[in-house]
Amino acid sequence: DDGDSPYAHSPSVDIKDSRGWDDVSVYNAKKKNYAWFQAPDGNWELAKILSVSGTESLIAFSETKVVKVQSACLLPANPEILDGIDDLIQLSYLSEPSVLYNLQYRYDRDMIYSKAGPVLVAINPFKTIPLYGDDYIEAYKRKKKDSPHVYAIADTAIREMIRDEVNQSIVISGESGAGKTETAKIAMQYLAAVRGGTGIEYEILKTNPILEGFGNAKTARNDNSSRFGKLIEIHFSEIGRISGASIQTFLLEKSRVVQCTEGERSYHSFYQLCAGAPPSLREKLNLKSVHEYKYLQQSNCYTIPGINDAEEFGIVVEALDIVHVSKEDQENVFAMIAAVLWLGNVTFSTVDDNNHVEPVIDEALQTVAKLLGCEAEQLQIALSTKKMTISGENIIQKLTLTQASDSRDALAKSIYSCLFDWLVEQINKSLSAGKRQSGRSISILDIYGFESFDEYIQDGIDWAKVDFEDNQACLSLFEKLNPNLRSSQKPLGLLTLLDEETTFPNGTDMSFANKLKQHLNSNPCFKGERGKAFTVRHYAGDVTYDTTGFLEKNRDLLHLVSIQLLSSCKCKLPRIFASNMLSLSEKPAVVSINKSGGADSQKLSVMLKFKGQLFQLMQRLGKTSSHFIRCIKPNNSHSPGIYNQQLVLQQLKCCGVLEVVRISRSGYPTRMTHQKFARRYGFLLFDHVASQDPLTASVAILQQFGILPEMYQVGYTKLFFRTGQIGKLEDTRNSTL
Ligand code: ADP
Ligand code: MG
Repeated sequence: DDGDSPYAHSPSVDIKDSRGWDDVSVYNAKKKNYAWFQAPDGNWELAKILSVSGTESLIAFSETKVVKVQSACLLPANPEILDGIDDLIQLSYLSEPSVLYNLQYRYDRDMIYSKAGPVLVAINPFKTIPLYGDDYIEAYKRKKKDSPHVYAIADTAIREMIRDEVNQSIVISGESGAGKTETAKIAMQYLAAVRGGTGIEYEILKTNPILEGFGNAKTARNDNSSRFGKLIEIHFSEIGRISGASIQTFLLEKSRVVQCTEGERSYHSFYQLCAGAPPSLREKLNLKSVHEYKYLQQSNCYTIPGINDAEEFGIVVEALDIVHVSKEDQENVFAMIAAVLWLGNVTFSTVDDNNHVEPVIDEALQTVAKLLGCEAEQLQIALSTKKMTISGENIIQKLTLTQASDSRDALAKSIYSCLFDWLVEQINKSLSAGKRQSGRSISILDIYGFESFDEYIQDGIDWAKVDFEDNQACLSLFEKLNPNLRSSQKPLGLLTLLDEETTFPNGTDMSFANKLKQHLNSNPCFKGERGKAFTVRHYAGDVTYDTTGFLEKNRDLLHLVSIQLLSSCKCKLPRIFASNMLSLSEKPAVVSINKSGGADSQKLSVMLKFKGQLFQLMQRLGKTSSHFIRCIKPNNSHSPGIYNQQLVLQQLKCCGVLEVVRISRSGYPTRMTHQKFARRYGFLLFDHVASQDPLTASVAILQQFGILPEMYQVGYTKLFFRTGQIGKLEDTRNSTL
């Protein structure tokens, strides 16, 4: 240690390089090499290597911060010329810090889109950025722009659909709040703008406020979080114009209707209706303020900063008009929303010595009855009894307070989810009315990716964690999705075991956990844990699940009495809902009916339903040519300009972006035009001839520096390099400058 800073004795040349270091003479004597150094907090910092002696290096973070470190702790940084390149596969040195730095470099300049080989990486800006709109759409359509963008992906999908005559899909994944739904909308906007013309594209775009109003809610992660998965298939006519669309939704999070965590909200539709309904409608539905409804009171959060629920209500109504939901049906829809809210206010009183209860006949119960179109007494019976069949005889059993509250909540959840499904059906009718669907299609998939792993299981929704990239062993752990197998041959997967245990009268979370260990221990993706827990080896890493509450969550229990009540209602929607539920129950794949002991209720199994949907989805997507967009959430505070390295890295790892880059790099990832190459390195030539054309100069440079022929390819306009070659040239260039 010579004890003094290199800055003390060396006169500064005072040239700032673009990375912001003041150049000092000590640097000039050395190669201007940069390296990554990992700070104790785990973050990577870019440092300049001042000198190397033995196993140690002297590095500088700034003029004043110079430290000696083990050379082994350093990772080479890419030359400045590669800063902010479009595609990560072009990096000469591929390492976590290099990828993180490059994405951040772009993000800081509002270039939120980057390519990772074939994958588009989109980092949520959490602010409005000027990258969208007609001018941009036009530029991408005319190929005047080629920087990474959702528009470019959508444009490629259209071109390949037409050129190859193959259906396309755009698969958008990412954590909650990463920007999936916004990205899906941006893709739809592009398709509508360049392939619209018939007016149907306008209708398609207007489905967003409806689906978001009824299916989105404020969560801790996202003020407008979609609580359902969505696949929208856009149909094109033979001449390549949008001719219609169909929407499929996946497993709406029902539990949110009746229970909601502190600081979150239930579905927007409840707040929108209460805030925006005109006086006549308020009176008809006996609407109160949001603060009066117990379902909404639990979370102690009624508004979202910057959002006016009354205004949103107007937007939803307008959208319903556009997708041809009649005014009468709209009123029916709002009546169901109000019925759900009032159901939450239904209370019970004890009626006998066995703790059996009955709903109190009060304003809440009477309003629900009126909104559904039934007698208050009928509703009372439905909420306080269940029917059982024991040895062929029908028996009516009274409910305890817990059972009755559950049956009330089950009814509220069912009404809401049926309403959501019904709305999707109306939208689909409108979007496909009179259109032939013989042409091609582009599907856009916006579905939960990996949620943060500490999240508890809710309504089975977390099974959506089964990412498409999970390998076969992992998928088969959840279920062997092979419909051709007879039931006796079917290997038991986790979901089947769960359904089975749910139907056993004596099944508990513990007995379920034990069954899992018994049946699944041979699967390499499964690991039994002590007590009620087990671990699944997902693609992204191990996740330990606690089975506490699994059985209860899977028992999405709607009593037959309730379904019968709905089917006898005077109003149209409850009757439709009841018939949909009954037709569902005819499909054995969707419903498991308890055959052992007395069949006391129909168990509309959440797991089985979702499993079937996932299978169909994968089959459908398997037939398309897919384009992938990975959305990344750069911080947890929803703030613009904050880039949390660790958070980004975790997401890149989760969705396999780093892998993709590594694989894609095996070709010739670095490209440079002959002109640029000659301009940049031409001065290094011993026989410098100014008049040389760029190609001749480029070839001369390659030869003089002994770049091996297998390390590059010469194209008509560009040179293509294998990984690391530009890095070498840059080092030479820098040490010469
Ligand atoms: P996800 O569907 O992945 O949960 P969203 O698409 O709802 O996430 O995005 C969450 C929020 O992030 C949006 O409400 C919006 O404020 C912001 N956001 C996402 N993408 C963009 C974008 N491209 N430009 C501006 N803001 C965005
Ligand atoms: Mg979303």
